[in-house]
Amino acid sequence: MSEKLIEPKLQAELRATTRITDVETDEVRELVLYIDDPAFRFRQGQSIGIVVPGKDEFGSTNHKRRYSIVKGSESSSEDGIELTILVRRCFFIDDFNGEQYPGRASNYLCDAKVGDSISITGPYKSPFKIPSNKSANILMIGTGTGIAPFRSFIETIYKEKGGWDGQVRLFYGAKTGLDLLYMNDKNNDLVNYYQEETFQAFNALTNRALSGEEKALENSLNNNIQEAWNLIQQPDTYVYISGLDNIAPALDTVMIDAADTQESWQLLKQKMKDEGRWSKLLYS
Ligand SMILES: Cc1cc2nc3c(=O)[nH]c(=O)nc-3n(C[C@H](O)[C@H](O)[C@H](O)COP(=O)(O)OP(=O)(O)OC[C@H]3O[C@@H](n4cnc5c(N)ncnc54)[C@H](O)[C@@H]3O)c2cc1C
Repeated sequence: MSEKLIEPKLQAELRATTRITDVETDEVRELVLYIDDPAFRFRQGQSIGIVVPGKDEFGSTNHKRRYSIVKGSESSSEDGIELTILVRRCFFIDDFNGEQYPGRASNYLCDAKVGDSISITGPYKSPFKIPSNKSANILMIGTGTGIAPFRSFIETIYKEKGGWDGQVRLFYGAKTGLDLLYMNDKNNDLVNYYQEETFQAFNALTNRALSGEEKALENSLNNNIQEAWNLIQQPDTYVYISGLDNIAPALDTVMIDAADTQESWQLLKQKMKDEGRWSKLLYS
């Protein structure tokens, strides 16, 4: 799974690391990185690569994984620049022996201590482009750390572009209230946009300890299916999907139901893809 590294690396210093989810649920940490290079430029919503030092058990080096930049300092100063990422601590189960193994990059980052030096690459382009027409509708569908590109998206259209005329909807699934990243008592900056006339967010939580975020997303869509289905059928609606890759089948399940047949949903989805109105950022 390691890739050959040919890009330049930069050193970043870990300035802060905070767990922002409840101890009963998956660990998600907010990490603030400081890059001591005033020339480093990025936009929120882009991602950086994190390079894990050392070799894995098979001897491969340069294990690199991408993380979306959720926010940053407004502009770089002479001293350098700060940026924030959200990291979910990942584990995977080996199909063969059933044992649980830690994901390399996410565990390296979640275990890192303030002051540690971390190798980064990038920044890399966001797959999400803001439509050129302000009257286009924007439908964001995501789970967990997938909120990172949406947060910057919402901020850009309302702050930098001075508002949006089309409807902007966020359908979001999470495991617990605290896991509703950036929409909870500790981090509520998305709430700033709730008074925007065109913005509305529909959140849902998983209702059983063992069910995943994709189930919560399914609930959030099902509970508001008329809203989602009306919007998705309009010719000027752009769909953005972000988070763990099990969202895709969850979304299909809900939409096949709304469209009556699998074929009609596939046709509509294909039309959106052909017209450049369907973008996704999915990861395992
Ligand atoms: C553009 C982009 C943006 C992203 N943004 C974020 C973000 O903001 N926040 C975030 O938390 N994540 C994000 N991700 C996901 C992130 O890059 C990593 O994929 C994730 O953290 C897991 O990496 P890891 O090194 O911890 O796990 P890895 O060690 O790479 O393992 C990941 C998966 O690989 C499989 N696997 C690995 N090794 C084995 C093995 N030996 N046997 C069987 N299966 C194996 C498992 O399915 C496992 O779940 C993003 C991904 C992309 C592409």
